[in-house]
Amino acid sequence: MENELMINVEGLTFIYKGQESDLLALDHIDLKIRDGDHVVIIGHNGSGKSTLAKQMNALLLPTDGKVHVKGMDTRDDDSLWKIRQTAGMVFQNPDNQIVATIVEEDVAFGPENLGIDPTEIRKRVDQSLLAVDMAEYAQKAPHLLSGGQKQRIAIAGVIAMKPDCIIFDEPTAMLDPSGRKEVIRTMQKLNREEGITIVHITHFMEEAVDAGRVVVMEDGKIVMEGSPREIFSRVAELKKLGLDVPQMTELAQELKDEGIKIASNILTVEEMVSVLCQLKLKN
Ligand code: ADP
Ligand code: MG
Repeated sequence: MENELMINVEGLTFIYKGQESDLLALDHIDLKIRDGDHVVIIGHNGSGKSTLAKQMNALLLPTDGKVHVKGMDTRDDDSLWKIRQTAGMVFQNPDNQIVATIVEEDVAFGPENLGIDPTEIRKRVDQSLLAVDMAEYAQKAPHLLSGGQKQRIAIAGVIAMKPDCIIFDEPTAMLDPSGRKEVIRTMQKLNREEGITIVHITHFMEEAVDAGRVVVMEDGKIVMEGSPREIFSRVAELKKLGLDVPQMTELAQELKDEGIKIASNILTVEEMVSVLCQLKLKN
């Protein structure tokens, strides 16, 4: 049986109304995200990724078309808080998302605003910090933490609201490579162990290889959708859209161009090593 629909985007069009001119940012988007999915969205700057993300928890509302979050219409005022609690959001800059001066107070901020009782809040804060592997930092000051740690605190703050889905808008863009790894590992863990639906916008192609599905945006439209292997085997099309492919896919393509008989849909270092070892055995 197919999983329940978490986010259902149908014929979504969105126009930013300006004083001088209007801008069509989303142009008839259809996208279904199911409970438990891990979807990565890529596309170059200005293709509409952040605008789409904000439609997924009612930070922006459709100009035309519909967005449903767990069956709730984002245009329905009465559902607003339930929608925001169902679909949490993590942004690029961790500093803009942290509000308190002690880690655990920051994580408690969301549930406090929901009016949840203190014993339940205590429980949620502890669980959330454990889920992002930051329990030992509960009493620390967020500004003393690394970028990756701060972003994990921001994620804990979202988890404390018990969302079914988290939308990450380039959460690793401001982090160093180790911070990026920490955040990616946390996202994978939340998806696999906690069953949280993940929508992840990124411009690092390596971060897309583990996704269940990759969605490619261009000029306010979805132009490709498929498994990472399907999408990244379409190297020429991606390049035309100004996008890269994972390094190992690129290398496989170059080896192929040199006349080496190798599959062009290699995604990871591990796969490349195993393919090259087999080649060597054959020769
Ligand atoms: P992405 O996240 O893929 O870089 P965005 O969703 O931020 O793309 O932007 C899509 C288009 O909408 C771009 O042309 C951008 O300039 C425009 N845009 C984004 N935010 C606003 C805004 N607040 N007002 C007007 N235009 C905007
Ligand atoms: Mg963006």
